[in-house]
Amino acid sequence: MATALSDKLSRLVKEMRGQARITEANVQDMLREVRMALLEADVALPVVRDFVARVKDKALGQEVVGSLNPGQALVGIVNRELVATMGEGVSDINLAAQPPAVILMAGLQGAGKTTTTAKLAKHLVDKRKKKVLTVSGDVYRPAAIEQLKTVTKQAGAEWFPSTPDQKPLDIARAAIDYARKQYFDVLLVDTAGRLAIDEALMREIRELHAALNPVETLFVVDAMQGQDAVNTAKAFKEALPLTGIVLTKMDGDSRGGAALSVRQITGAPIKFAGVSEKIDGLEVFDAERHAGRILG
Ligand code: GDP
Repeated sequence: MATALSDKLSRLVKEMRGQARITEANVQDMLREVRMALLEADVALPVVRDFVARVKDKALGQEVVGSLNPGQALVGIVNRELVATMGEGVSDINLAAQPPAVILMAGLQGAGKTTTTAKLAKHLVDKRKKKVLTVSGDVYRPAAIEQLKTVTKQAGAEWFPSTPDQKPLDIARAAIDYARKQYFDVLLVDTAGRLAIDEALMREIRELHAALNPVETLFVVDAMQGQDAVNTAKAFKEALPLTGIVLTKMDGDSRGGAALSVRQITGAPIKFAGVSEKIDGLEVFDAERHAGRILG
C-alpha cells in the first residue's frame, strides 16, 4: 500500500540503515509520523493519542522491531487498527421492529440531515422495497419542512405534512398514527438542528426519542467538521442512545479523520457516507477504503 505515511516511514527506515536492528527509539520516531498523519487527516487530538497508544502496544511486539521491513509492518498495523476501530463489514439499517420501524435523524443544522433523510428513504424504497413515510419536526424553519417535501418526492417516498405552529411531539405522534393506519414499513423523522449544541434542542430530541421509540437513532455529521466533530458527537451521545452514524460530505476534500473520531467517541457504527448533494449520493460506509483515505 503506497500512502503518504508509508513513504514517510520508508524514508525514516532508510535513515536507520546501518543499525543492526530496529530499536524501540526507532519505533517511537515512526509513531511520531503516524501521529502527524492522523492529525493532518483532522482526527481529534485525544482520539489520536488513544489510537497511537494502541498501535504502539502492537508495534513493540515482535511485529515491527523484528521485521525485515519495519515501515511496511507499521503501516500494516496502523491500517488494521484503523479498520478495526471504524468497524469492519457493513451494517445496513435495522428495520427489526413492529411496523412502522421508526428512524430518528439527529445532528446539527447544516450537517445534511434533511438530504440524508431523503437519501435513506430512496435507499429503503429501491434496495429494500419498503413503503416509506417521512416527516419533519423542524418547526423552527418552515423552509426545512418544504425542503423535505421536495426531496421525499424525488426519493419515491411519501411525505407527511407538518407546520411551524405544531409541537414536534404532536407531529411525530400524528405521523406514527398515519403510518400505522396506512401500513408503512418505515417512518423517517427529520428533526430540527441548531448551529451549535444547545440544551433546549437536546431536551426536545430526547423527548422525541422517548415518544417514538425508534429502532434506529442516526447521528448525521459533516465529515468536513474535522476536529469539532468530537464535541458534537459527545453531546449527541450523551443525549441519545445512538445506533448509527452517517458521515456526510465525503465528496469534499477532507481526509475524513472525523470518521475515526466520531466512531471512537460514540461507539456507534458508521453505516453510510454521503458522497454528493444528489438524492442517490449515499454509499454504505467502507472502513477499508476509508482507512486508505485517512492515511493519505
Ligand atoms: P440539515 O440542516 O442538517 O437538514 O442539512 P441539509 O440536508 O439541508 O444539508 C445542508 C447542505 O449540505 C445542503 O446544501 C446539502 O445539499 C448539502 N449536503 C448534504 N449532504 C451532502 C453530501 O453528502 N455531499 C455534499 N457535497 N453536500 C451535501
